[in-house]
Amino acid sequence: MQPRLFYCDHYTIPLPAGHKFPAEKYRLLRETLAGDSVFELEPADFARPELIELAHDPAYVAGFLNGTLDPAIMRRIGFPWSHELTRRTLASLGGTLAASEDALRTGLGGNLAGGTHHAFRAEGAGFCVFNDIAVGILALRQEHGVRRAAVVDLDVHQGDATAAIFWDDSDVLTLSIHARHNFPLRKQRSRMDIDLPDGAEDAEYLAALERVLPRVFEFAPEVVFYHAGVDGLAGDRLGRLALSLDGLKRRDRLVLQMCRSRGVPVVITLGGGYAEPIAKTVEAHANTFRVAAEVLRLSYEIQGPAFAK
Ligand SMILES: [Zn+2]
Repeated sequence: MQPRLFYCDHYTIPLPAGHKFPAEKYRLLRETLAGDSVFELEPADFARPELIELAHDPAYVAGFLNGTLDPAIMRRIGFPWSHELTRRTLASLGGTLAASEDALRTGLGGNLAGGTHHAFRAEGAGFCVFNDIAVGILALRQEHGVRRAAVVDLDVHQGDATAAIFWDDSDVLTLSIHARHNFPLRKQRSRMDIDLPDGAEDAEYLAALERVLPRVFEFAPEVVFYHAGVDGLAGDRLGRLALSLDGLKRRDRLVLQMCRSRGVPVVITLGGGYAEPIAKTVEAHANTFRVAAEVLRLSYEIQGPAFAK
């Protein structure tokens, strides 16, 4: 059996002209990875509302699904409400939930969506409605008794809502490495934050990551959620860093090699990427999964757990 990745780009959302959300990258990424023939690509099922409520206020969940949320909250999310948006949102979340289960079973789970780390308990922001990483961790806790989890959030924007949701939870370690002067302007406190100056390049970024990663694993997580946003790429419209494609691959390798060497299952979520042309972002995202395949020695010939030699 080939390892699999989940997608939800077949649920398209109606957006006004000139909207910043890079809707086409999801389809292009799926097509690129399909061309590699390493991963099986599967449409994600909808997440069940009762699992979403593990991390979110039930009134917020119902308000979004019914289209009755306060317009000010929808404005902060940044999408016009539509039935298509609810379907896409539920499938994006469902992809991370399914990837979480795959990770426990095989060592690696991946979602070609998600990483919606700006969604707080009772409100969303920045293209994030529900926090798939928070829901994923709490679902693994409820359904599989997973106690300790770590979030390695390397999107260029701080994982503010994930940090806030788990601030009082001593069994979840949150790490965020992000651009200091970027959205969100009001930062939350992760267990570990590294904020980098505008224009930071590969060497500074990778040195910071190498310094902090061992502490993530000293926490002894039973699962790692890797938020692999690629908006730290030089020239990204919404980033402020200057990482190269090669630098991002080295970043992915550092995280995934450490997961492998410590035998910790990893769930990869997509996160941001807004470079132009969009092909550059697609390549950076595809590289994350290619590095995962290489590091975890997954290929269609290899059956069974990813960690088997
Ligand atoms: Zn981002």
